[in-house]
Amino acid sequence: MLDFLVVTAHPDDESAIAGFLLSAKKQGYKTGIICLTKGESGGFATKEERVLEFEEATALLGFDWVRILDFPDAGIEVSSSAVETLIPLFRETEAKTIITLHPEDYHPDHRAVAALVDRAIFVAGLKKHSTDDTTWHPAQVLSISLDARRATRRADIVYDISDVQEEWRAFLKCYPSQKIAQFVEIRARYYGLLGGYPLAEGFFLNQPLRLDGPGTLIHKAKRN
Ligand SMILES: [Zn+2]
Repeated sequence: MLDFLVVTAHPDDESAIAGFLLSAKKQGYKTGIICLTKGESGGFATKEERVLEFEEATALLGFDWVRILDFPDAGIEVSSSAVETLIPLFRETEAKTIITLHPEDYHPDHRAVAALVDRAIFVAGLKKHSTDDTTWHPAQVLSISLDARRATRRADIVYDISDVQEEWRAFLKCYPSQKIAQFVEIRARYYGLLGGYPLAEGFFLNQPLRLDGPGTLIHKAKRN
């Protein structure tokens, strides 16, 4: 059973929460990722090169469970067959929390993944739809945004990644073809500003955040 399952469109989308994932692994949580495409339409690298970069990056992040699918890059569509592809994977992981792309993100594939995940979560929870009488529903669904051009909302949660900065900087070198390092660093500084941290990552809520106890609301006091 996974604590966190990340569902993305392209190899490198997980850069939005690489620090969070490193931090989660350090704390003993189980993580997994489904990337729907092999990123062949980006124009900076071949499909094979992008898969190799993804394999290196996901190994560095220490995922317990990794799947890269072969949906068409820049052509993901919200369809029943795509939903049916995701459901058995979701059920296999029994993920407690799903982290996926923002429903208003700039890239149409990101918006399609957000809609697909939403549908697949709903259908996976229906007993009548199940072939083995089991159902699954995550406790939390969180969104991440790769770009603020359309998703202009302020992040609802900022997560301090300063403690994993060294490993995070190693991750930034994993996608040389996409040249992500500078952009990801600027974004981490921006989210850091929102929370008063040197570097942070942002999450968005599309439904209420569930808290099981007051401990999750207690943080280090800030000294300004
Ligand atoms: Zn993407």
